[in-house]
Amino acid sequence: MRSWSGGFSRWDVHTREVLHFDVLVVGAGPAGSATAIHLARAGASVLLADRARFPRDKPCGGGVTGRALRQVPCDIMPVVERVVHHFELRLRHRRSFRRTSAEPLIVMTQRRRLDAYLAEQAADAGATFRDGTRVEHVEIGPDGVSATVGGESVTADILVGADGANGIVAKAAGLDEGILRGVALEGNIPWSLLDEERYASTAVIEIGAPSGGYGWLFPKGDHANLGVGGWAEEGPNLREHLARLARAYDVDPDAIIELRGHRLPMRRVGASTPASSRVVLVGDAAGLVDPLSGDGMYEAFVSARLAAGAIVAGDPTCYPTALARDLDSHARASWAAKRALDRHPAVCFWAARSPGVFGVVGGLLRGDIGHPDEAKGLARPPLRLIARVARRA
Ligand SMILES: Cc1cc2nc3c(=O)[nH]c(=O)nc-3n(C[C@H](O)[C@H](O)[C@H](O)COP(=O)(O)OP(=O)(O)OC[C@H]3O[C@@H](n4cnc5c(N)ncnc54)[C@H](O)[C@@H]3O)c2cc1C
Repeated sequence: MRSWSGGFSRWDVHTREVLHFDVLVVGAGPAGSATAIHLARAGASVLLADRARFPRDKPCGGGVTGRALRQVPCDIMPVVERVVHHFELRLRHRRSFRRTSAEPLIVMTQRRRLDAYLAEQAADAGATFRDGTRVEHVEIGPDGVSATVGGESVTADILVGADGANGIVAKAAGLDEGILRGVALEGNIPWSLLDEERYASTAVIEIGAPSGGYGWLFPKGDHANLGVGGWAEEGPNLREHLARLARAYDVDPDAIIELRGHRLPMRRVGASTPASSRVVLVGDAAGLVDPLSGDGMYEAFVSARLAAGAIVAGDPTCYPTALARDLDSHARASWAAKRALDRHPAVCFWAARSPGVFGVVGGLLRGDIGHPDEAKGLARPPLRLIARVARRA
């Protein structure tokens, strides 16, 4: 491992008044814990701090796509509750179609379980994990960073902002430009109110509303997760969108429990800067939510791997280029598809239903295909149509 000034220093609480780490990671969501795992495995001293007491929940559908699963730095099957093989697309609560994949498309977990598990894996790898520990008063200098961590002064060579959509690091580092924010609202319905057999291994996506997003039903161990997300302006309407979605399953909206909302930070490709010489942003803190799907865990794990690689190589400033190489072309395709979906959901529904297209959608979800442009045969004309609609939108 290369260093900045003669090697990574070790935290020694007995000989230092101010605690020092090679890397301070703020936030123990998927992005922070994955970064800490990679760094600790590479031999860095890492403090992973989260203001919440774990296990804690995070508003999320808890769907880890196959392509995200390939990026997780450890086996998460111990916290997987369902494996999804079926995909159902619905248009405005009326028309629908269903497709099946022999290989798993998505695995379903609950964030309170996944995040506690990943933080535990980071600690097992050698990181110091502190929950219930807020990071404040971040100061970034040319030679390192300092912060108050749970009331104590801490210094570090590098600061990783993994503090999510409402974090403090991006702002403190002046790296918070170029990010748009959507919103999403989700809650749970016990299986006693739904047909568990029908939905147990199915992810349902409902398009046509809200604008800038969609609704979903994801199966979990003892309940289904129901949610809606869209442009920030849809915020005040999300409860009504969710109620309409619940009624489409003959469920009384009042039966939805554990209702929670959160922001979806989506960067404009090329308009945001996720690193400086001492600070690196990963996951939602870098605005990496996919604009079409609203997923962010794939991007959280990819950015964690790339950020840790750049830190270990001794040059955090090479991280933005690596991130752009791995994420930009997919993000551009997602923005284009989102424009098409927003303006012409019925055309997109028709295109998605066309022969061959599920082969591409399934391939993208599983991670077998990296970009829709890789589509071949029958899938090409409907996907070209979506691209044309997007250009006009
Ligand atoms: C309703 C909804 C549904 C979603 N569904 C899916 C889905 O099914 N699949 C998917 O892939 N993505 C989904 N996403 C997106 C996904 O949840 C995020 O992209 C993902 O959580 C990003 O992980 P992260 O580690 O970057 O941030 P987070 O998971 O938000 O973690 C940030 C952490 O930082 C901590 N923190 C913040 N400030 C401080 C501070 N000052 N000091 C210490 N700690 C701090 C917080 O407590 C938190 O634990 C969904 C999002 C929403 C809103």
